[in-house]
Amino acid sequence: MKSPAIVDILLEGRPAGTIETLPEPQQLYLPLQSKRLKFSELCVEEGQQVSIGQILAKDPDNFSIPLLAPRAGGVRLSEVENHIVLQNITPDGEQVRHIKHKEVHVSADANSVNIKRQKLIDLGAWQFFYDAHDMSVPDPSVEPRAVIVSTLHLEPFTARGNVQIKEHIINFTRGLEHVQSLLEYQTIYLILPEIQTELSEEVQKTIRGYARGKIIKVPIWYPCDNLTVIARKLGLQKEKGSPVWALLTEGVLAIEKVLSHSQPCVDRFISLGGPAVKLPLHLKAMAGYPIEKIVQERLVDGPVRIINGGVFTGQAITEEQKGLPAECSGLTVLRVETERELLSFTRGGSDRRSYSNSYLSCLASPFRERLTTAIRGELRPCVACGFCEDVCPAGIMPYLIHKTLYEGELEDVELVRVDLCVGCGLCSFVCPSKIDLRGQFVEAQEVIRRELHGRPEVQA
Ligand code: SF4
Ligand code: SF4
Repeated sequence: MKSPAIVDILLEGRPAGTIETLPEPQQLYLPLQSKRLKFSELCVEEGQQVSIGQILAKDPDNFSIPLLAPRAGGVRLSEVENHIVLQNITPDGEQVRHIKHKEVHVSADANSVNIKRQKLIDLGAWQFFYDAHDMSVPDPSVEPRAVIVSTLHLEPFTARGNVQIKEHIINFTRGLEHVQSLLEYQTIYLILPEIQTELSEEVQKTIRGYARGKIIKVPIWYPCDNLTVIARKLGLQKEKGSPVWALLTEGVLAIEKVLSHSQPCVDRFISLGGPAVKLPLHLKAMAGYPIEKIVQERLVDGPVRIINGGVFTGQAITEEQKGLPAECSGLTVLRVETERELLSFTRGGSDRRSYSNSYLSCLASPFRERLTTAIRGELRPCVACGFCEDVCPAGIMPYLIHKTLYEGELEDVELVRVDLCVGCGLCSFVCPSKIDLRGQFVEAQEVIRRELHGRPEVQA
């Protein structure tokens, strides 16, 4: 497989390395659904008073991962559809200690590894674990083959790992020790940036001596940090019953919080970035924090679109979504462009960058493009330029999959290996015809999973 071409994604609105703590909210709006989780089993009643860390709801399809109360307050169930609202918040209210739950998702044999894994579920840290091959929530009772821990988060505008570690390096290294204690003999691959930074040197120094730790350096180009791509490059192919776990920086910090301090994971780091944010930065927030309050007075004038996640893989937040979802890693805000532009379909001009070197922008020195919601002109048919194939980290042919989706049967789409797409979105970004290749492939994967293999949906 040839190496994908590097795309220098220079976009305006990168969050600065500063972390601001949001003021305590008066009310929290906790969505009952996040990227991978559906908290459909309610555990509280209307009007009930809850403590910090108390279980509000659970996801019965994902090992009863709980939605925890980030603050003490009064429960309102019917105020906002698909949300649990917490009123009269008291930040320093009582915090629950670790209580063993009824459902146990690890073996009844109560060895220390199983006790720890169950504790991670109960106190909200298991939601930070991923199956490296499909990004689903891994089964805590199944032994992993290896663990990938990545400090790199390269998708534009998401919360960066180095910012999160900066003031918590001790917690991070202690978290890594805990990860080791959850395993028997498996290797932990620690992903660090290829370029040497003070922080990566410090992380390396502290983990030297871990018997089962291996450092892997990767280039700092998106999507070299993609966990599925990394697993494949390490030769850890998908195998039934032998998963590869993956953790990001916030996951390691969450493990440390639970296993060193028995505290529930209720606060998290997010980013607020994108060209429509006046001063992009990182924030310490919590699930349910009112989105309206997060962005208040921080955005430029005019209509905007708020995206849950990064600019390539995130999803637009709808008007019905009031609070920060449980798995949110950042908010990206783009200006909504309504004006039509002359010759915009060519994506030419000196103010916009293009993967093609036939536009004016290739004569200018590197500059940060101000991305908007506009695709600048009409969608066009594929012009067979091959840019999408050049950049694809999965080594597949996006234009061929796109063509097969239109002309072939579902079985044909499977044959051209849509399953290998890791959903990075780079093909859609470079496509001069502005085809939403990623969106089509993610949807096709779900349809194939459901209709050809009778398996439930997994969100990318
Ligand atoms: S979204 Fe899929 S097809 Fe497109 S570049 Fe990424 S991995 Fe390749
Ligand atoms: S980048 Fe777009 S236009 Fe070019 S080959 Fe791929 S799908 Fe076709």
